[in-house]
Amino acid sequence: MRIVQRPEVKGGFVPCIECGVGTRSHVLESAEYEEYEEVWEDDDLQEYQGRKKVEEEEEEEVVIRYRLHNEQVCMCHKCWVPRREKAIGFLNKHKDDWVRDGPAQMWRIKRFLKSWNYYGFDDELELKYQKDIEDVRSALRNSAGISEEE
Ligand SMILES: [Zn+2]
Repeated sequence: MRIVQRPEVKGGFVPCIECGVGTRSHVLESAEYEEYEEVWEDDDLQEYQGRKKVEEEEEEEVVIRYRLHNEQVCMCHKCWVPRREKAIGFLNKHKDDWVRDGPAQMWRIKRFLKSWNYYGFDDELELKYQKDIEDVRSALRNSAGISEEE
């Protein structure tokens, strides 16, 4: 059966990948669920729709259900905040070079943005840093027309 993500479902608490405390504050990797079908003949339905039941022998109701395939990967806020501070420090140190010479710095920018996105550091980011990270993103876009997701 299919493996799916269910963004509408808030996953359970899992150990923070850094310190092990139970958390679901910052989801780094979404949980994955396996779909499966439950099939049964609906006895209640038969009771109410006796005639239909006769006409359509073996009427079945199929319900899609989910079982957990991979638990989500999370980081607690206490570990996440200093990590973002470090990333912002790194951004401040390198952004001018990156923006000035995007093509030469492309792979460094890509690597940085990949980690940045993984940890979800855009979340409630101060305005002045939003500008910096946007500058870096456009430097990458303008470099080779590639996106950070590739
Ligand atoms: Zn932690």
